[in-house]
Amino acid sequence: MDNTITLEIVTPYGLIFSGDIDEITATGSEGEFGVFPGHAHFLTTLRVGMLTCKRGSEILIFFVSGGYAEVMPDKVTILADSAERSEDIDVERARTALKRAEERLKQAEKIDFARATAAVERATIRVQIAEKHQAK
Ligand code: ATP
Repeated sequence: MDNTITLEIVTPYGLIFSGDIDEITATGSEGEFGVFPGHAHFLTTLRVGMLTCKRGSEILIFFVSGGYAEVMPDKVTILADSAERSEDIDVERARTALKRAEERLKQAEKIDFARATAAVERATIRVQIAEKHQAK
């Protein structure tokens, strides 16, 4: 067994990433966790957040909108509602989505509060990741 992990990020929109990497840090519902090759098998739910991978000297950053992670000694599968690589995030679209969701939250009645809050969270984290990428 070589010293890498195969990472697959799968969404209903398609396979976002498939490749061999050295280590992964993801946002689990119980907090951030790291995975190195040889990690024990486990399943966890994910929060909306950032997923970071190291591949040699390269750092790959993804937005992940929550979902599930299955960790095996040589493979990690992420199943998410949506995910993008940091450089693929359209920051203007995320800012517009954030404004739209914030406006919705101000209309105290007749809104699906959980849905609007989740939209704020996705857009906020997309903007944060995109800005981090632009600052690289
Ligand atoms: P919006 O209101 O802008 O559609 P959303 O949070 O509702 O945002 P999602 O349901 O999470 O969007 O994602 C729908 C699809 O659009 C997915 O393929 C996702 O990767 C893509 N997507 C959403 N927002 C962005 C963005 N800012 N940049 C790039 N792709 C995005």
